[in-house]
Amino acid sequence: MGKGTVSADIRKRYPQVWLSVSATTRKPRPGEVDGVHYHFVSGDEFARMVSDHQLLEWAVVHGRNWYGTPRAAVEEQLSRGVPSLLEIDLAGARQVRAAMPEARFIFLAPPSWDELVRRLVGRGTEDEEERERRLATAKVELAAADEFDHVVVNDEVSRATDQIVALMGIRPHD
Ligand code: 5GP
Repeated sequence: MGKGTVSADIRKRYPQVWLSVSATTRKPRPGEVDGVHYHFVSGDEFARMVSDHQLLEWAVVHGRNWYGTPRAAVEEQLSRGVPSLLEIDLAGARQVRAAMPEARFIFLAPPSWDELVRRLVGRGTEDEEERERRLATAKVELAAADEFDHVVVNDEVSRATDQIVALMGIRPHD
């Protein structure tokens, strides 16, 4: 039901949208595939990507792992005119805004705070400490929703997905 579910739905129902594959130092969750959901890299590899300027943006998310968007893949898709979507955090969005002022920014909001907590606990893939970190990040991000061009409420996955792609200028039957 969270962001990952929305990404999966876009992948399935709107294959014409290109989803950026981020690099991360986080370990894969069960079912996550290297090169599809993320490029899972070591801390050394991530540091090398940063120093080689291979990342369009990068951030430490939830005070723990590194996440970043490989620049070359984004540039290639954009140069071919492919509608492209980056699923990134607030700090990353601010960097993209600075680097690419023409980009549009959508804030994907949980239906309510209680529902966000329920989804995180229900997923069962994070321990208590990690859940606390993630909720702390969510508080900061929710406070910055006004910075975004649009807000889409993630109450029902297919509805959120349809809204996001509509904002990208894609019609349901394209
Ligand atoms: P997760 O660990 O649950 O897959 O992702 C945690 C957070 O990292 C999500 O909020 C997601 O938006 C963010 N994230 C994923 N990839 C990137 C990225 O390439 N750059 C930035 N800045 N954040 C990312």
